Amino acid sequence: MAFNPADNIQDLQYFGEFGGVNPSISDSSTYTFLSAKTMFDTFEGNADGCYLYSRHSTPSNLYLGEALAAMEGTETANVAASGMGAITPTILQFCQAGDHVVSSRTIYGGTYAFLKNFAPRMDIHTSFVDITKLDVVEAAITKNTKVLYCESVSNPLLEVADIKGLAKIAKKYNLQLLVDNTFSPLNISPAKLGADVVLHSLTKFINGSSDTMGGVVCGTQELIDTLRNVNDGASMLLGASMDSMRAASIMKNLRTLHIRIKQHSKNALYLAERFQKEKIKTVYPGLKSHPGHELFKSMMNEEYGYGGMLTLDVGSLDKANELMELMQERNLGYLAVSLGFYKTLFSAPGSSTSSEIPEQEQAEMGLSDGLIRFSIGLDNDIERTFNMMRECMVEVGVLKA
Ligand SMILES: *Cc1c(COP(=O)(O)O)cnc(C)c1O
Repeated sequence: MAFNPADNIQDLQYFGEFGGVNPSISDSSTYTFLSAKTMFDTFEGNADGCYLYSRHSTPSNLYLGEALAAMEGTETANVAASGMGAITPTILQFCQAGDHVVSSRTIYGGTYAFLKNFAPRMDIHTSFVDITKLDVVEAAITKNTKVLYCESVSNPLLEVADIKGLAKIAKKYNLQLLVDNTFSPLNISPAKLGADVVLHSLTKFINGSSDTMGGVVCGTQELIDTLRNVNDGASMLLGASMDSMRAASIMKNLRTLHIRIKQHSKNALYLAERFQKEKIKTVYPGLKSHPGHELFKSMMNEEYGYGGMLTLDVGSLDKANELMELMQERNLGYLAVSLGFYKTLFSAPGSSTSSEIPEQEQAEMGLSDGLIRFSIGLDNDIERTFNMMRECMVEVGVLKA
């Protein structure tokens, strides 16, 4: 039977303590023991099913982690307080002083800043490359390289990574392939394509209601045990643990992820096709004009579409700002940096989410001033939305009437 991430989530059955249809939330930071010996064993990680302290693990966090592991098809997973709280410990767990990372140059601004500015303090250095060119990726590998890092669909340029091709390189040089799948949950299943570790910011599509931060590392049991080790586990010791209340609320939202992703994808494809016809520079992996279109198609879980993210280039930052302000005024969406909300969100990444990337590098990677990144919402009538957006574009002079 074919792998289907949403079916895998659906097949998980959790009951509450009193037969509730939702699992009970464990509202405690610490747990009692009848025997002191069991407490010691639990601390050492040798007492299955026992809880000690909520930074280590909680029932609610384990439920959510197992559901996300089922979604990504990995052995297990560890949830964290934010996406960065999942990403940074994972990189640090694999890299020691002197080690080297090869990373895509088009990645989330925070991850970029961590690798570029923070990790060097620990003598961990990164080469940033065009991830769509496998020969360039391979050429950047040194004898100290430990990690190959990319996003399935990159932020904000929506470049598509050839995960199978990268996995082959990772195998050849004995590297760990880490893939941030935040932009394409359900759409792409990186572990099924050969990624060793799949990371997410749950803050975005997976939670989907822009009320919570969260992150997850999906991987082997061995990796997750290592990250959680009380003596030298980066997730355990850096302390970005998720709160149980949040884990429970994300778990409930995860149950509707497949419906939401289908609607995000349907709406984004519609708008991308219409705006491209209007001769606006449109980037969306679902368009044949996208250089990664065929690649995405070859990797995707088809029924979930090409995702909810698209970019439009309206020529200049001034025009972009004027247009975004007008669209917000007309209630077409919000001028906000995040993504994956029921409502369309838009921002100009050059001056916001990717502002950590120096201007010169932004230009080199094709991140232009007039670029607007859209996270398309769950709008019921997307043709109506298109007409209203088009009207805004006419008013600010991006399109003719
Ligand atoms: C938001 C985001 C992150 C960071 O997640 P936080 O939850 O904000 O810490 C990482 N990667 C991508 C692609 C993101 O969009």
